[in-house]
Amino acid sequence: MGRKKLRPLPSSPFPLELSPETMRSMLQQATEYIVAHTSSLSTQPMHATKGGRKLARSLVSAMPEQGVPFEKLFRKLFSQVIPASLNTASPGYLAYIPGGGIVHSAIADLIADATNRYVGVWIAAPGLAQIEENVIQWFASMLGMPKAAGGLLLTGGSLANLIATITARREKLPPDFMRGTMYTSEEAHHSVLKAALLAGILPEHVRSIPSDDQFRIQGDALRAAIREDRLAGKTPFLIVAHGGTTNTGAVDDLNQVADIAAAENCWLHVDAAYGGFFALTERGRKTLAGIDRADSITLDPHKGLFLPYGTGCLIVRDRETLRRAHAVPAAYMPPMQEERDLVDFCELGPELSRDFRGLRVWLPFMMHGASVFRDALDEKMDLARYAADELRKIPDVEIVAEPQLSLLAFRLRTPGLSPADEDARNRRWMSLVNQKQRVLLTGTTTQGRFLVRMCILSFRTHRDRIDMAIEDLRTSREELNE
Ligand SMILES: *Cc1c(COP(=O)(O)O)cnc(C)c1O
Repeated sequence: MGRKKLRPLPSSPFPLELSPETMRSMLQQATEYIVAHTSSLSTQPMHATKGGRKLARSLVSAMPEQGVPFEKLFRKLFSQVIPASLNTASPGYLAYIPGGGIVHSAIADLIADATNRYVGVWIAAPGLAQIEENVIQWFASMLGMPKAAGGLLLTGGSLANLIATITARREKLPPDFMRGTMYTSEEAHHSVLKAALLAGILPEHVRSIPSDDQFRIQGDALRAAIREDRLAGKTPFLIVAHGGTTNTGAVDDLNQVADIAAAENCWLHVDAAYGGFFALTERGRKTLAGIDRADSITLDPHKGLFLPYGTGCLIVRDRETLRRAHAVPAAYMPPMQEERDLVDFCELGPELSRDFRGLRVWLPFMMHGASVFRDALDEKMDLARYAADELRKIPDVEIVAEPQLSLLAFRLRTPGLSPADEDARNRRWMSLVNQKQRVLLTGTTTQGRFLVRMCILSFRTHRDRIDMAIEDLRTSREELNE
């Protein structure tokens, strides 16, 4: 946007109460910036964080005593600060676990924040609380959970894993829970370990179980570890399985793990932050078979539903388990609802006042219907299989983790190189690809070796961008040999 002459804000004795004119003007300008930004995402560079240190330090400022016109602030944000980042909203973002950020949700947030209703307690906004509960019930039924299921929208998967761990501890262990042991695979997301730490589980009681050649938890090793701990007088109480690992996208054999959890009287939590929403699709449902036997499940709408960052979700098989884990009376609170279908969210989790998260899921679902999300997720799975097939045509490429959902991991084999040198060569390969600025890939180290990953989960990523990725991988491999 060009430099416009700044109009002074109309002076008012109560400037925090924006006049209708100023409100409109702020909204209109923000709209113009957002539209210009999002419609040029695909041609913006993939990463522009060079000089980040200098930029960050140039922004240090004391609390301002006098105001600055919002036009000037918007201009600085959009011209200098926002561009200097990883372009996480780009169709070329194939790194980590992409989100994307559907703009519908940003608009829903604007409505939710501007009306500022209180959805933590049912009585304060019964209709809005119901809208949020609808979203929870849609997710629960998508996962095949029973009628008694319930849950919470949270800020992310990390918090969902934490609340699940604490709920499992409260349900399965006595108040003195120091004997409690929990189990997850060596491929677990680090938030599972953080959740254990914050829930007070002794670090030596968090058992890391080896994974198999497809990076899934080994059932025999899991059984053996539980048996060993029982013999040592410990109390196994929780198994955390994965509905798509962050490293390679591996989905544990959830039916096998559910059998073990049932036989051992352990709570079964499935961390499906990456993969859970593939349950909307037929193929995803098959891959995630057994997830309906979990006691709790982590979902991340800001991953698999393409929402902006800041929306996670915990679904539990029995809503009462959440209520029991968080029940604390308070004299100044209004009465809580007794009827089962009316939900006070503040009773189910650690938060009391919070943003109205339901609207940012509800609005896009109501506007498009679930089929649009299902089709988009099917497209991502097709693209991952396509990428694997195209990669196989590049000489020396080995697909180490075939896509089970929409994530694959691979490397270049170089006979004669030591593992360390081969890893270094793969890092150089990935870095050459990223320098081309059309896609962004990240790697990982698992079972001792470095792998390049490709995670296809942005709603903006289509076949043309995967073709660019393959082309850049092919030419970068040739550049490695020069
Ligand atoms: C992303 C992720 C998490 C953490 O979720 P946040 O939303 O980043 O807090 C946990 N588990 C898995 C498998 C993930 O992919």
